[in-house]
Amino acid sequence: MKKSVLEERKASISDSCGKGGGICCEKESVSGAVSQRACVYCGARVVLNPITDAYHIVHGPIGCASYTWDIRGSLTSGAETYRNSFSTDLRETDIVFGGEKKLAAAIDELMEKALPAPKLIFVFATCIVGVTGDDVDAVCGAAEAKHGIRVIPVKAPGFSGTKTRGYKLACDAIMALVGPHAGSPKRFGVNILGDYNLAGEMWIIRNYLEEIGIPVISTVTGDSSCEALTRAPQATLNIVQCAGSSAYLAERMEAEFGIPYIKVSFFGVEDTTASLLRVADALGRPDISANARAFAERRAATVMPVMEKYRPRLEGKRAAIFVGGGFKAISLIRQFNELGMETVVVGTQTGKKDEYETIAALVGGGAVVLDDANPAELERFMLEKRADILVGGVKERPLAYKLGMAFCDHNHERKHPLAGFEGIENFVKEIHTSINSPVWKYVKGDAA
Ligand code: SF4
Repeated sequence: MKKSVLEERKASISDSCGKGGGICCEKESVSGAVSQRACVYCGARVVLNPITDAYHIVHGPIGCASYTWDIRGSLTSGAETYRNSFSTDLRETDIVFGGEKKLAAAIDELMEKALPAPKLIFVFATCIVGVTGDDVDAVCGAAEAKHGIRVIPVKAPGFSGTKTRGYKLACDAIMALVGPHAGSPKRFGVNILGDYNLAGEMWIIRNYLEEIGIPVISTVTGDSSCEALTRAPQATLNIVQCAGSSAYLAERMEAEFGIPYIKVSFFGVEDTTASLLRVADALGRPDISANARAFAERRAATVMPVMEKYRPRLEGKRAAIFVGGGFKAISLIRQFNELGMETVVVGTQTGKKDEYETIAALVGGGAVVLDDANPAELERFMLEKRADILVGGVKERPLAYKLGMAFCDHNHERKHPLAGFEGIENFVKEIHTSINSPVWKYVKGDAA
């Protein structure tokens, strides 16, 4: 490994086949390494923001409140409250004298003026509050007593850990909301955990399940509402799409509500088909398993011609991946394999040891596997491995474009679904359009 990688980062990067599973992960970012990973508060907000009728107060400086619906396009079939962001806008005097009164006043103001009337408020305490020590629990508790609604604190100073800690705090907040409904009678059906309905993806998966004969009780948190979330304890099975953010919630729901869970992925033909069959089998109903098998075969047959059409233009191309969780990275590697492409760089923000082991087993010899990468590392390895395309999110897009490289947005901001069979078609077309765009030869100056 060359000198441009910080000494402290070397344990988190593997550049030879078979060693990727052994990389250092699930650790705090190296100070000064300029991690691509989001902060604790962002991790919590990612999970809670899609609850459509919730109000979000960011107790901190105004900058933290820039995280809004606009940077995470979860769709709604109901309320649009979640598209707003509120902040206590802490200033120097609040930092010196404390911001508790300002927070209480912000909650009171929302209760007085906001329409529709708040039923649920999340209060996110960000970095500066972690330093000053405002008693956010006490303010939220007093507000609950005063207004008779749920006011749930999410103490998520950005510096207090990794994005994974933010996920955990959000899951705890959800449990604080649904826990009082633990005794609800059970009924046949599943909860969808860890799907945030980006570009309507949760609707696609819910429609599949319902067509197969599997009722969906609650969705956590894509297109959910305060009332719908409280039905979650009734389900017989939890299916977990984004394991990085929601496996902990599934574990708590198994321990406290007796709901078993399975991890699923609806990206790519192989994973979508396998996930539908696994969900059906887990419910123990042969008729539903037969429905799932027939449905998956029928839908897979509709996307195979699309894949065959584009495969000759994509075969042999080289992909780099940098996404939030390991489970998504694994599905993407499988999708590139289905297209005859090679994954040459793969990294995640919050991958776990077992996920990196699977990644190492899937990628070819010489692929670079890295946890919690920074821009310099990604640029260097994409160039060294001669990647043709980077799949990532908003923070990775400029890295690819600066290198004159194709890019595919597989993160929060995209406006078209990439999950399910519909998503496979969109994904293949986007990869083809981006990689084979004539623009790259002009950017690189090798046009005739
Ligand atoms: S790192 Fe701290 S200041 Fe920055 S967005 Fe996160 S919580 Fe706010």
